[in-house]
Amino acid sequence: METIAIVGGGIAGLALAACLDPERFEVTVYEKRPELPAVGSALGMWPNAQRALARVGVLDEARSVSPVIGSGSVRSPDGEPWVTVDAGEMFGVSRIDLLRLLHAAVPATVRRTTSHLREVPADGGLVVGADGVHSVVRRQVWGARTDARLTPYLALRGTLPSPVSRDEVGEYWGRGDLFGMTAARGGSFWYASYRSGLGPYGIEVATTLEQARQRYATHAPAIRRALAAATPESCLVQRLWTVPHLRSYVRGRNVLIGDAAHAMMPTLGRGACESLVDAVTLAGLLNTLPESQALREYDRQRRLRTRALSLASSALGRIALAEGGQPLRDRLLNLARRRQARAAVVSGSGG
Ligand SMILES: Cc1cc2nc3c(=O)[nH]c(=O)nc-3n(C[C@H](O)[C@H](O)[C@H](O)COP(=O)(O)OP(=O)(O)OC[C@H]3O[C@@H](n4cnc5c(N)ncnc54)[C@H](O)[C@@H]3O)c2cc1C
Repeated sequence: METIAIVGGGIAGLALAACLDPERFEVTVYEKRPELPAVGSALGMWPNAQRALARVGVLDEARSVSPVIGSGSVRSPDGEPWVTVDAGEMFGVSRIDLLRLLHAAVPATVRRTTSHLREVPADGGLVVGADGVHSVVRRQVWGARTDARLTPYLALRGTLPSPVSRDEVGEYWGRGDLFGMTAARGGSFWYASYRSGLGPYGIEVATTLEQARQRYATHAPAIRRALAAATPESCLVQRLWTVPHLRSYVRGRNVLIGDAAHAMMPTLGRGACESLVDAVTLAGLLNTLPESQALREYDRQRRLRTRALSLASSALGRIALAEGGQPLRDRLLNLARRRQARAAVVSGSGG
């Protein structure tokens, strides 16, 4: 049996552990959290992530506990829809449900160790860094110059037991801030992001919630209602970090997957999706090819694609969170709104 140490039992690490061939590999997952998190957020599952979930064997169950996203609008801060996008079959799964399903999909042969690793395991086998944006594997093997970069933005998110109405769903782009609302299992999910000097570590939720209520005090009533109803216990807050682009996701017998390889701005909602795709891609290759060939092929299939998504997420983040360029952005979005309205009239009269 070949040994594989997976550092990090989050979305990427668990999906990988679930898909590796138990006849061929002796797998250990090292996870610092003793239990699943109590507060979660909703993660939009794009089609490629849905295919990955199908490979793990949990797609039907994930779909059954997650509302379909349907359509959503990019809106002005006071709630006027600028552009409406049809999200097709995308659904929003709660992070807690996703982790629970992935957990259950990991075979009993996989050894689980609750431990906060400070160093890469040195048993001579393959090491997979699935330990997120502040990866110890990346730091130790790729070096401190690949440490995560702090962005000026903060993300505050929470769930509410009340549903969000169709004409309020979407993302509201203001001057240097955004606010999103979507349906979630048993209610709704909201998130806010803006430039903030709080942190970077140990940010107090109650303080941030108060700051957000002031910041969004003149925004749409739906935003104010959501923030007024939010409690610190139902919210998460963090500064946003990204990982610099790496020349390779593989070094010797070490390989990075998920946020450890490519943590990106959350604006496109792709991080968890790409983490799942990394995991099933790597597992499929390791199950069928000699290790060195599998690792080369994994790097070839995944690095440029995730790099492109990371660049696109940053670019969209600059537009959504625009400050100086906000008036121009809003004029362009108003134009897009008029075009979309004209197209709807033409297709209505033609049909
Ligand atoms: C505000 C925000 C919104 C987002 N929205 C979306 C979205 O809508 N859709 C989407 O697809 N993505 C979204 N993402 C991105 C998504 O959350 C991440 O891409 C995803 O969680 C990455 O999964 P991962 O398993 O690679 O890393 P993580 O989820 O960070 O998991 C890493 C795991 O490793 C463990 N760990 C870390 N260090 C160690 C150690 N030294 N020893 C042992 N264990 C360790 C951690 O406890 C954790 O369980 C969002 C991110 C943010 C910040």
